[in-house]
Amino acid sequence: MRLFVPAETREGERRVALVPDTVPKLVALGLEVCVESGAGVEAYASDEDYLKAGANVIATADVPNVLAEADVIATVRPMDPPAAATLKDGAVVLSFLQPRVDTDYIAAIAKSKATALSFDLVPRISRAQSMDALSSQALVTGYRCTLIAADLLPKFLPLFMTAAGTIPPAKVLVLGAGVAGLQAIATAKRLGSLVSAYDVRSASADEVRSLGGTFVELELETLEAGGGYAKEMTEDRAARQRELLTPYITKSDILITTAAVPGRAAPRLVTAEMISGMRAGSVIVDMAAESGGNVEGSVPGETVDVNGVLIFGAKDLASTMPVHASKLYSMNVLALLGLAVKDGENTLDIEDEVFDGCAVVYNGEIRKGA
Ligand code: NAD
Repeated sequence: MRLFVPAETREGERRVALVPDTVPKLVALGLEVCVESGAGVEAYASDEDYLKAGANVIATADVPNVLAEADVIATVRPMDPPAAATLKDGAVVLSFLQPRVDTDYIAAIAKSKATALSFDLVPRISRAQSMDALSSQALVTGYRCTLIAADLLPKFLPLFMTAAGTIPPAKVLVLGAGVAGLQAIATAKRLGSLVSAYDVRSASADEVRSLGGTFVELELETLEAGGGYAKEMTEDRAARQRELLTPYITKSDILITTAAVPGRAAPRLVTAEMISGMRAGSVIVDMAAESGGNVEGSVPGETVDVNGVLIFGAKDLASTMPVHASKLYSMNVLALLGLAVKDGENTLDIEDEVFDGCAVVYNGEIRKGA
């Protein structure tokens, strides 16, 4: 079986689906590994590194031929639909893939009679934790959110007791304490700030406290759906949550928002009116800016100044740390392929809970979305 890793084509994407370290482990599964020349360059993995690790490096001019022959293709973002339409019958493609968004890609995979597995849909069961690329990439983005906020803040984060006097620690508030939020909290704690956080799921309170943060208790019902995810708020509850959070937001030097509800636009947690109560020199990082925005006025990829409050809208944050984001993603690819390939044979069992959950297209049949 041949695994092919083409270069990513989406603008701004710096990750690669496979780093050289992982190549020998895939070879041990019985796969012949091929990587497009230059695929790892943005993640600081050279063609030479891949060759040394045991992969073949494919010149870009030969990519159409290799793609048409490959048994397994791994990418971070879905391939361009015209390329996806050229895969052979029964080929298996792994990537992030949102059934409601990537409809042209899904149609192209179906046309090829191939199988598309989505890391967005790997079930959150303990057996599949090593395949959970949503979590591995959320770790990166949560960490980066705090570093970006610290960089924009015109103040220290830790307490300083100096001969000239005392500088109090900065106050950081994190809204949404899932994988990314918890990493933002941990990073803000490491930098010495005073951290508090709020989430609609009750389980998150202990997780926040275990990292040394203070959980903000609001007199509101919790909102839990299956699989550890949150439920959407009603507009009444959203308004009440905004009202109750306002005093905490007003006191914060840094506000980091990471709230998400699967399959929905990001919940609006912070309005322009709430921002108007923040001190000039405060910083907001909206991690959800690309999926609708937790914060009114945030723009993906831009820092907006609203009366001295800087609002950073996250965009492609995992790509700002391509080395470790790619390494973690590679390990997720290896784990998922470990379940689908034995001794160089495709053993993907669609009845397996993992593949039943994440196969968007199976041998040309569209199973999710569209
Ligand atoms: P996510 O990205 O879907 O959402 C981020 C956070 O936003 C969640 O914690 C959610 O509760 C919160 N949120 C949603 N609406 C909100 C609102 N109105 N106000 C404040 N917060 C709001 O979630 P995630 O980071 O992918 O993880 C969610 C949970 O799943 C976490 O508890 C995580 O530990 C758990 N998880 C379990 C596994 C596993 O069992 N294999 C793997 C990964 C994550």
